[in-house]
Amino acid sequence: MIDTQTIRIQQTSQSRIDTLDESNIPFGQLYSDHMFVADYTNGEWKDLRIAPYQNISISPANSALHYGITIFEGLKAYRNPQGEVMIFRPDANAKRLNISAERMCIPEVPESLFMEALTELVKLDNSWVPSSPNTALYIRPFVFGTDEYIGIRPSQNFRFMIITCPVGSYYSQPVNVKIETEYSRAVEGGTGFAKAGGNYAASLYPAKLAQEKGFHQLVWTDAKTHQFIEESGTMNIMFVVDGKLITAPTSGTILKGITRDSVLTIARDWGMEVEERPIAVKEIVSAAKEGRIQEAFGVGTAATIAPIAKIGFEEDTYELKHSDQGKFSSKILKELNDIRTGVIEDRYGWTFKV
Ligand SMILES: *Cc1c(COP(=O)(O)O)cnc(C)c1O
Repeated sequence: MIDTQTIRIQQTSQSRIDTLDESNIPFGQLYSDHMFVADYTNGEWKDLRIAPYQNISISPANSALHYGITIFEGLKAYRNPQGEVMIFRPDANAKRLNISAERMCIPEVPESLFMEALTELVKLDNSWVPSSPNTALYIRPFVFGTDEYIGIRPSQNFRFMIITCPVGSYYSQPVNVKIETEYSRAVEGGTGFAKAGGNYAASLYPAKLAQEKGFHQLVWTDAKTHQFIEESGTMNIMFVVDGKLITAPTSGTILKGITRDSVLTIARDWGMEVEERPIAVKEIVSAAKEGRIQEAFGVGTAATIAPIAKIGFEEDTYELKHSDQGKFSSKILKELNDIRTGVIEDRYGWTFKV
């Protein structure tokens, strides 16, 4: 374990907590009072500190700015009925950060450092964890190269930071998605499985084209044939067809979502038939045409469960309005929320009390 003594804490003298209005939280705009910072030099994470949230200064030749040497994570803290703060599956995020790190030649952040940093930061900004229904404290750990060098090579210096922001619901209504068959997000051998900055930059243009046509999000297909459903921009995608829960297997091109894993685990426990297998676009389009898609939804930390109302494919848009629409997704959303907020027993050991 990293000794907490080694995290230097500089507390703000001007808390902004009175600007937080729990009944009206804009997503990703209001940041908590403090941030965690550590620097990697000479092969070691050093100078662990918590400071007031503020701008940082970097060289114009910074390696992350030029080449996208940057990775991130996203997780949430919740307040339980006793007023205590619980973080959902932080160990899984710590592990995934290091999977992303390896692919991008970024040094490992030891799980003990990740956990200590998270715990100390959330403890200090405890009052920023909202308690109203459908709110949470979103936690964003990230690591980026800090070399002052415009040659292309793995960075040798890095910064690990954590910032947090209170959030409400991500989507206020069911989403319309378009199955993308021209552009690609990820290909085998690429970086799709990593939460690496560039993946998201590259997804913006195709997403913008879809938004101009009235869709909220894309559903990516495999880059080689565009015949199989992969995932959405920040969510894995699931379907309920003929009573079965179906989702694409995670591979090199699909991000291994922690929400995805949580939903599949609970569904299996409930005795639901679960299939992790390649899903042909054709299969989904014909099921949609025949009205056999009971439910379609995205699953991810930011949105939790985002029900899908319409699926666009080529020139057609299919409205999903099965009589069972929302039956499973609302039930699993409640179960997940109840576990994360400590309303029911955490039978999986997923919650981490701060
Ligand atoms: C973060 C992310 C997800 C969801 O992962 P969670 O761990 O459930 O938050 C899914 N797809 C992509 C591309 C992502 O970046």
